[in-house]
Amino acid sequence: MLKGLINRFSKDKPETTEPVIIPRSEHSISRKQISPNALKVLYRLRDAGFDAFLVGGCVRDLLLGRRPKDFDLATNAKPEEVRRLFKNCRLIGKRFRLAHILFGPEIIEVATFRTHHENATETQHGHMHQGMIIRDNVFGSIEDDARRRDFSINALYYNIADFTVLDYTNAMDDIKHRRLRIIGDPEKRFHEDPVRLIRAARFAGKLNLTISPETETPLKELSYLLQNVSPARLFQEVLKFFEEGALLNTFHLFRKYKLVEQLFPETAGSLTHENALKLIEDALSNTDQRLKEGKTVSPAFLFSIFLWHPIQAHATQEAAKGLPLYVAFEKAIYLVMKKQIDRLSIPRKLQVTIRDICFLQHRFTQRFGSRPYRVLEHQRYRAGYDLLMLRATAGEPVKDLYDWWTEFHDADPTVREKMIKSAAKATPGKKPRRSRKFSKPRMPRPENTAN
Ligand code: ATP
Ligand code: MG
Repeated sequence: MLKGLINRFSKDKPETTEPVIIPRSEHSISRKQISPNALKVLYRLRDAGFDAFLVGGCVRDLLLGRRPKDFDLATNAKPEEVRRLFKNCRLIGKRFRLAHILFGPEIIEVATFRTHHENATETQHGHMHQGMIIRDNVFGSIEDDARRRDFSINALYYNIADFTVLDYTNAMDDIKHRRLRIIGDPEKRFHEDPVRLIRAARFAGKLNLTISPETETPLKELSYLLQNVSPARLFQEVLKFFEEGALLNTFHLFRKYKLVEQLFPETAGSLTHENALKLIEDALSNTDQRLKEGKTVSPAFLFSIFLWHPIQAHATQEAAKGLPLYVAFEKAIYLVMKKQIDRLSIPRKLQVTIRDICFLQHRFTQRFGSRPYRVLEHQRYRAGYDLLMLRATAGEPVKDLYDWWTEFHDADPTVREKMIKSAAKATPGKKPRRSRKFSKPRMPRPENTAN
């Protein structure tokens, strides 16, 4: 207890500071931009006598003139108190209890202010492991809550009581200069939670921000810390990267800060090949375009893009050892995927799709008999074909193959038959089936000499 008190008032704890309060007339957030359901929750908390704020990504996005993905709330009400106010409330989370208020498909997340582990008492605060936080479940003040957040721009609070914005970390200046700055001592904060390294690159990439020099210096050197992060968490980060836009920009930052080595170790090694790099860059830029048009992205396709070159390199090596091509491909896919899932826990179903898309690249070369028809019917044909197209554009020698499939796809049955006949001759690894006409004459059956 005493230790806890000393801890609370130790020199390490930043002195209590009053927030800068930005009045409604000096910021751009209007209630019209806020989800009506989030407003409902904010008002009900306020009317019950609690403090209630919008916080995190939604405040940041509104101030940067973007549409928020979702609306998160912070309050001094305890999770149980929140539950009592809303019939449609579910409490979730083991590490830290959060309230989810459900409005059909929209979920408004309400978190009670919590503190940084350092400010907690011995019994309250979570275990530390090599400087990393393992548990983080202690309630605190709004100021504690602001300081435990990652970047200043993620620590702004929109107050429903008077529509002001509270700034504890000089974040408005960073918003103004479109700057990403980690709160507190950068090195320490990255050690505490190395996922912040990825988050830094993601936010800078997707929001087009400059990373401040004091945040950037350790960022360049600490990527190795990600080895201590669970593959499940890293997988979630990669999914966010795939789905939130500005992929190409973010990928360049991932390269700059040596994060590709941690997330896609096999791919990182292949980026010295011009084709491999171009394949990825083209695919990411196409995906950015798709997202702008409101289309969805396919994580399986993007994983296939990242893994294609390592798979191809392994397959070539295996084939050189004398393995039949299809076995070499199967083996290469298995080996590359095995290394990849050590880093990112890609779910089984997704693995199967990635495997299919990559294996189709081999099947595209097998243009004889009924095989091309079976390829056309394959569930992943379209994704496989798109990968083939990108490979051709990136400079791999598959332009003729790609043109063949483009024509074959739309051709009528007689043309298809002709195409198969002429392509079969050029198909590698095909054992030509002997035509009956030229087959060796059968040995005559012995004459029945019985009588
Ligand atoms: P996005 O729009 O990508 O969801 P976000 O800022 O809302 O961005 P979340 O991952 O949803 O990001 O997290 C919500 C908030 O929680 C963040 O804005 C930040 O304040 C805090 N936060 C999330 N992850 C961390 C972390 N690893 N360390 C410290 N604070 C974090
Ligand atoms: Mg969010």
